[in-house]
Amino acid sequence: MKNILHILIFNLLISAAFSQSADEEIFFPADTSKKIHLQKNTDDAPSTTFLEQDNNEEEDLESQNEISTLYGDFDNHVVHQYKYKEVFQIRDSLIISLEKEKFVLPFNGKINSHYGWRRYRPHYGTDIDLNKGDSIKSTFDGIVRYANKKVKGYGQVIIIRHFNGFETVYAHLSKILISPNDTIKAGDLIGLGGNSGRSTGPHLHFEIRCLGVPINSEDIIDYENQCLKNNTFILTKKDAEETYNLRSKKYYHIVKSKRIYIVKQGDTLSKIAKKTGIPLSVLLKKNKLKKTSIIKPGRKIYL
Ligand SMILES: [Zn+2]
Repeated sequence: MKNILHILIFNLLISAAFSQSADEEIFFPADTSKKIHLQKNTDDAPSTTFLEQDNNEEEDLESQNEISTLYGDFDNHVVHQYKYKEVFQIRDSLIISLEKEKFVLPFNGKINSHYGWRRYRPHYGTDIDLNKGDSIKSTFDGIVRYANKKVKGYGQVIIIRHFNGFETVYAHLSKILISPNDTIKAGDLIGLGGNSGRSTGPHLHFEIRCLGVPINSEDIIDYENQCLKNNTFILTKKDAEETYNLRSKKYYHIVKSKRIYIVKQGDTLSKIAKKTGIPLSVLLKKNKLKKTSIIKPGRKIYL
């Protein structure tokens, strides 16, 4: 009974912690690594760090990219670990060798939403169309760092840390078939596609991250030919801070233009609030409007 109670409290803590931050995880590269640090359950597999785990396999160590050692730890309870900030304090670029890497598409389907700005929000993943229950596979060899059924935004999500230094994120799943700390090969079945979390229809929200930096997966993967685009991927400090930071100055023109909404036929203020994700009270204040104000199509609403 005591054990069950412990598990219940542990689960409650986890879901409470992640419901606060995870919604932002898809869209905002905010540093949440310091927010939550729950004690690892001692009944789990031995708490080895990523580096230690690899040291046991001498062959792997040789082919392993140096970057995978830069994470420092292997936390099963934090959604994203934004280690790039520390790393880029002492260096300007990271080279990821993909030459010997075995690669498999997570799911072979039509891309229906790309990385970039989307409906007033940055979108850090590539959305791949699928039917509920379709098989989702790991893109590279690696170890499951994180798996959680209830992450706001992501829904059921798996994050795998790969020996090459990338982390991949598989979200909106209907079933998780692996556990944290499982060793995975490229092409292994890890879960089933679905519609959990913030999702309007069954699809896979797939992200590639490097030390927490969300990278456009289409810069790395040639989806049409189901292969990698290059043998190497170089992440520079500038890329981390600008190219792959959709909220940086580089994208300011997009941010600026997206902060205005043009009223369409049939719109009401509450509909606009819902569409844009801006609370009604904020819209009213910014635009000096009342709840009862009539807004005509074509009018600009400041967000
Ligand atoms: Zn998505």
